[in-house]
Amino acid sequence: MPSDTPGLHHVTGIVGDAQTAIDWYSGVLGLRLVTQTVNFEDILQHHLYFGDAAGTPGTVLTHFPDPHGDPGRIGKPQVESVAFVVPADALEYWHTRLADHDIAVEGPLERFDERVLQFEDPAGTRLELVAGPPIPEGTEPWTDGPVPTDRAIRGLYGVAALSVNPYATAGTLETLGFEYETERDGRIRYRAPGDRAGVVDVLDRDTPFGREGQGTLHHVAVRVETEDDLHEWRALFADRDYDVSRVKDRHFFHSLYVREPGGILFELATETGGVAAGGGTDRAGESLFLPDWFERDRDLIESQLPELTVPTTDEISDR
Ligand code: ZN
Repeated sequence: MPSDTPGLHHVTGIVGDAQTAIDWYSGVLGLRLVTQTVNFEDILQHHLYFGDAAGTPGTVLTHFPDPHGDPGRIGKPQVESVAFVVPADALEYWHTRLADHDIAVEGPLERFDERVLQFEDPAGTRLELVAGPPIPEGTEPWTDGPVPTDRAIRGLYGVAALSVNPYATAGTLETLGFEYETERDGRIRYRAPGDRAGVVDVLDRDTPFGREGQGTLHHVAVRVETEDDLHEWRALFADRDYDVSRVKDRHFFHSLYVREPGGILFELATETGGVAAGGGTDRAGESLFLPDWFERDRDLIESQLPELTVPTTDEISDR
């Protein structure tokens, strides 16, 4: 057996306009745009990575902007929502901050031992802030952002998944190394053994089928240590006749994708220092990053993509 995953690596969704996403995730949520690149499967689409200062695996939410696409519909089988962890005493600050930006906020709701705020990004993606769990070690909030460091988002907490077969999805999670923790009201909690970003809640609900598009989450990635682990996982999933991709070079990490029988698209991605283009320097995210193998097409790629402005710290602080 390949080694267990310690937790989530990143979550990826689809939004509308790229500039709107940058302004909102950096300017309102205070996440750093650590990399702007292209979708490696479709180079005429941006791929935006938001996270902590270095883009540490376990803090990263990425989006594919699809400005001409249709709004999606949240339903099964999909990742339903993504939750970030904030310091225990920060929820009131966040409630006020989101309301001041005219964002409809639900909560704080009590769930298990946590307090939760629920809201949506401009594309309709369901997001949560969770207070209560310990703040993970090894992540570094973006200190140049608009949110005071002692209130800042400290990484991913977890996701909720709407499966077509909760029993099968639970089995996949156990195979990956997650353990059953508790359940209430059709929410079955699994947790990975690592110190951060370890929660997947399987939702056992009678929900209509979803449709991929703006405002829906595309996949959830879990961390693995090495490329060798990926090959071992690939063999294991292939043995079970799961729909599994080859191992891919994502420049910042290597990964593979597996659609498990509950319909959820999981990615397994190697744990590297961070996914910030340029390694988390001041300039990370400021210009379009292309891996070597697309660099020769830069002029063509740039001419086809909308131009983006990454707001400076001063501009952001004014909001
Ligand atoms: Zn991914």
